[in-house]
Amino acid sequence: MVFAFDRDASQTRRAFLAGLGAIASASALLRCGSDKPALESPVASDGDVPPRWRPALPATEPLMRVRVLRTGGPGAQTLIGTATQWIALETASTEGTETVLRGPVVVRLDKLSWSVTDANGLRAAVNGFETIEMASLSADEPDLVVGKRVYPGRLRLVARGDAKRDGFDVISLVPMETYLPGVVSAELFSHWLAPTRAAQAIAARSFAASEHAWFGGRREWDVTGTAHSQVYNGRVDHAQSHEAVEATRGVVLGYDGRLVPGYYSSCCGGTAARAIDAIGASPVNDVPPLAGRKGQDVCTDAKVARWTIDRPLGRLTRRFGAWGRQRGREDVAELGELAAIEVLRRNEQGRPTRYTVSDVAAQQVELSAEHLRAAANFSGASLKEPRQRLWSSHVSVTIRNDVAGFAGRGFGHGVGMCQYGAESLARAGTDHHDILEWYYPGADIVKAY
Ligand SMILES: [Zn+2]
Repeated sequence: MVFAFDRDASQTRRAFLAGLGAIASASALLRCGSDKPALESPVASDGDVPPRWRPALPATEPLMRVRVLRTGGPGAQTLIGTATQWIALETASTEGTETVLRGPVVVRLDKLSWSVTDANGLRAAVNGFETIEMASLSADEPDLVVGKRVYPGRLRLVARGDAKRDGFDVISLVPMETYLPGVVSAELFSHWLAPTRAAQAIAARSFAASEHAWFGGRREWDVTGTAHSQVYNGRVDHAQSHEAVEATRGVVLGYDGRLVPGYYSSCCGGTAARAIDAIGASPVNDVPPLAGRKGQDVCTDAKVARWTIDRPLGRLTRRFGAWGRQRGREDVAELGELAAIEVLRRNEQGRPTRYTVSDVAAQQVELSAEHLRAAANFSGASLKEPRQRLWSSHVSVTIRNDVAGFAGRGFGHGVGMCQYGAESLARAGTDHHDILEWYYPGADIVKAY
């Protein structure tokens, strides 16, 4: 499909985005969940993907494994279900026989085994730390409540680690099409338009199916329910999000007969990133639809398209040091007080892909753009979360009087669909096919199942 960007429509878009800027508060943006630590997923990491491997198009609807809760520490516990609900518990050793429990059920990891106790005080027999599955037996309450969220489908509880038993994961087992409305409604503002939502549904499905294909035999879950993967709010009551998912059922992004992970972020700031620069060099990411859209995007009037943040230089230097030690980058760990951060390379669109960082003793290191962002945002090792995180890795930096001033563009990694840009295209009358064609050039839009 050929998409010709209509210059005449730019006035409409500007007016719309000006209004949008007024609505979009920082906290609402965080809810968009697109400040993704882009290097989180091994699908995307350097050198970790077999040569030429790319995920197949899903032949049937995948059963997604979404980690919705990660409890920490011995004695951590969680409540599952409601007081009016009956819940079936199954384990591998009790296969075929369910233990029936009255909700809410208290689940805890003790020293030698699980402790599972129902509202009537009945303790379920579970062998050691074997994996547990739970499902609702109440027809009028088919979902399971964990914390503040309601999850359709079964829950799987997996004890983490071997000797330490340092907590457990709660994993929602949910068919793709049931999962997606809880993603689409969390990732977009509720008043955004139907074509944006349909494009988002297809991008999110393509990303999730790709993670599912990669992690199937590698770990207990495919994605988290947080911005590390994509935000999932469980069962949601937002008709437009359900409609967007139903209208695009089974539709994914493809290229050369294989799946394209539909990476997306909040705002590219005008210039797209290539997946192999911003996410990771791998055959999965090295495809034309993820190579970065040419030319300026239509999101540049969004409030997050341009921003400035000042950081005290001393603490910024310590963040770089701590990040370097954690990542085994001795050269970064050994940097003294920072003196300059300069763009070393840009992609064809002009977005920085590598920086050089020098200290006052003229030591110099190179960092990829996303590593620069991660280092500047690093917390842990006695460093608190920065008051303002760098929203993207597209920055120019001025160091003066013990302050590093960052002038940045956009929010998120900038690969694939730009949510603000998609909405401005939709406002100008663009349908979801053309929005996807704009952000994933050359991708096929395929009904896989
Ligand atoms: Zn954009």
